[in-house]
Amino acid sequence: MPASPRADLDSLPPYVPGKSVPGAIKLASNEVPLAPLPSVADTIAQATSSVNRYPDMGSYALLERLSTGLGVPQQQVAVGCGSVSLCQQVMQAMCNSGDEVLFAWRSFEAYPILAQVVGVRQRTVPLDEHHVHDLDAMLDAITPETRVVFVCNPNNPTGTVVRTAALERFLDAVPSHVLVVLDEAYAEFVNGPDVPDGLRLVAERDNVAVCRTFSKAYGLAGLRVGYLVGQPTIVEAVRKTCIPFSVNALAQAAAVASLDAADELLSRCADISRERDRVRAALLDQGYAVPESMANFVWLPLGDRAAEFAEHALANKVVVRPFAGDGVRVTIGTPEENDTLLEATRTF
Ligand code: PMP
Repeated sequence: MPASPRADLDSLPPYVPGKSVPGAIKLASNEVPLAPLPSVADTIAQATSSVNRYPDMGSYALLERLSTGLGVPQQQVAVGCGSVSLCQQVMQAMCNSGDEVLFAWRSFEAYPILAQVVGVRQRTVPLDEHHVHDLDAMLDAITPETRVVFVCNPNNPTGTVVRTAALERFLDAVPSHVLVVLDEAYAEFVNGPDVPDGLRLVAERDNVAVCRTFSKAYGLAGLRVGYLVGQPTIVEAVRKTCIPFSVNALAQAAAVASLDAADELLSRCADISRERDRVRAALLDQGYAVPESMANFVWLPLGDRAAEFAEHALANKVVVRPFAGDGVRVTIGTPEENDTLLEATRTF
């Protein structure tokens, strides 16, 4: 009998990345539109001189830097090859076969793929009519088999947030056998009140972990590095699921250099958040029902017209991210790029 792959992979949907189209503005992958700072680029260049050696498998310098900066002990931090890897590792670390993970839908499109690859059951709960996590319904959907609940905050692709009081009520009611993972990939773009700070919740509660990334606010999407903060037993288990050396040497060096330049990078995020609010206001004026976003993107709930809109945008030299039958996610770019987008939305 020939070697044959797992039959269930036939039904696995591919992860569809945002397209890069020559000559068009890419507002499709929630990246920041700015090149790395010179200090970060220099550090990366210097680190290339030793890529004949394996990277530090413990990411010691980065862990130390994160631990000091976040004010948590090192044994409460794990780093990974992007936070997407940490989402997968959490499932591997927490779930036996037959166990379940729970998340809202629509949310980060990797969750269902990772769950299937890992081989755990998945349960989803629709967002409410405001495109926000329906935490009461998620609580009702928890079963004795549920091991992990992902709360993506702000939510990709809608940009919406759950508020502090609502999340705290949810956490109070979640059974103790469940780990709640707050996926805060876009935390640095939040600029409103009453949005929970996952790190505070980790400090206060045993069954909460937080995932964050250097891909978005820190502009290192191409290098693949993220981190998870949680209780030491969870972190230790997550580290065990890591493929050896998966956080490469350039990524480790660049992440440390980015933390050194955090003030400048976070002030860029504040600019992007202001642009986001400008773009949303303009879209509301144009008649689009865009929910309030706290991330570096906005959501156009266009339903069946999502694909048609993406084609129209591309004809106007803007690449956006359509989710067929549901809506379109548009990343915030530079002010000029956003103006091009707003011209495309005006003529749709
Ligand atoms: N979580 C969310 C909600 C995301 O949108 C993304 C990136 N699209 C990730 C995690 C993963 O980011 P990365 O692997 O680049 O750190």
